[in-house]
Amino acid sequence: MPTRPPIHRNPWEKAPQERARAYERERGSSASRGYGYDWRQFRERILAERPLCQDCEQQGRLTAASEVHHIAKPRARPDLRLDPQNVASLCVSCHSRRTGRGE
Ligand SMILES: [Zn+2]
Repeated sequence: MPTRPPIHRNPWEKAPQERARAYERERGSSASRGYGYDWRQFRERILAERPLCQDCEQQGRLTAASEVHHIAKPRARPDLRLDPQNVASLCVSCHSRRTGRGE
C-alpha cells in the first residue's frame, strides 16, 4: 500500500533549477532597480536634509515630503542612483503625479 499518492508531473512546469535561475534573475533586477538597504539609508538622509516637497514649494505651498523621486531612473543611470542631485523630495500626490507622467 503506497503511503503517498503518485506524483503527476506537469510537463509544462519548469524544472527546479530553471526556477532557481529565474529567481536569481528576479533578485538581480530588483537590486538593479536600486531599492536595497543603501537606498533606504540614502532616502532617509535626503528626507532629513530636504523635508519639504519640492514641487509644492515651487507653487508656494509648504508640504512635508515623504517620498524621494529619482529624476534619472536607476535603470537608465545606475551611477546616479545615490546622487543627491538626481533625486527630488516629494509629497505623495506630487510623486504620483510625476510617475503618472512617466517620470
Ligand atoms: Zn507636493
